[in-house]
Amino acid sequence: MMTTYFFVQWQDISYFCNMKNPFRPIISLYKSWRAHRAMPLRLEFVVTDHCNLNCKGCTHYSPLAPDEPEDFDTLCRSIGKLSRVCGDKVPTLYLIGGETLLYPRLNDAMTALRQGFPDARLYIFTNGIMLPRMGEDFWQRCRDEKFILAVTRYPIRFDYDKVLALCREKGVETEVFGDRSMADSFFRFGLDPDKKQNPRIAHFKCYNRGCVSIIGDKIYPCSISACVTHLNRAHGTGFTHLDGDFLRVDEVTDVKQIKRLRDNPVPFCGYCVNPPATVAYGPSRREKSEWVD
Ligand code: SF4
Ligand code: SF4
Repeated sequence: MMTTYFFVQWQDISYFCNMKNPFRPIISLYKSWRAHRAMPLRLEFVVTDHCNLNCKGCTHYSPLAPDEPEDFDTLCRSIGKLSRVCGDKVPTLYLIGGETLLYPRLNDAMTALRQGFPDARLYIFTNGIMLPRMGEDFWQRCRDEKFILAVTRYPIRFDYDKVLALCREKGVETEVFGDRSMADSFFRFGLDPDKKQNPRIAHFKCYNRGCVSIIGDKIYPCSISACVTHLNRAHGTGFTHLDGDFLRVDEVTDVKQIKRLRDNPVPFCGYCVNPPATVAYGPSRREKSEWVD
């Protein structure tokens, strides 16, 4: 009897606290902040921003990007250095584009990443379109190096189920990373050229947080900052990087530096308008307004 009585009382108190607790929003923000920081680190090596699709508002600015694949030796140097610094503290790494399958030395890049991170989960991001045309050497390398294909579905006339079946037939693991054919699944990440956004709020609400991107010998917290050069070149915009916006691979001596870059606002966050607008999927007309407010 005593136990039941206490239980009822406690439920009443708990209910009352939940309804009346003025600190609830603050507790909720704190929990989100803690959850963001607890996310395992993942690294994305950008091997090309060129793409065989042309999506409006692409966060790698691929519709504006020249066909300039990453220099293979630089890629290997960055992988080698980061593997020595990070060891087994990064559980997940990606080769990413643009369209990653367009990278001319993709098979070699897979082997380089596997040698650097023997126990990690390694992925290739792809829109999948080229998969039916990939040679047996590619499939063999995926199996040998235990790569997973992270396929994003776009609302285009393409049989994704058939290509996923092909991957199964080839004995290569796949994950559907995103389904952009769903309503509300495409965003426009606008940049404010006057940099008047609050960097802390932009970072806290950021949809791209966690996408730590390595281009050449630099590490950025996201692709929007990492790839903005394509936007600047195409439209003469002046989205610049300041001290603190990136790390040089050679200067990283501890994985905590990368985590700090990911978990804290950087000056570039002052450009980011949040929340991003939900937009209908469509082809890019390569207009500045797709990316700039
Ligand atoms: S498929 Fe991906 S990388 Fe290519 S243009 Fe579309 S959003 Fe950009
Ligand atoms: S610059 Fe900051 S707010 Fe903008 S996308 Fe990158 S991490 Fe997010």
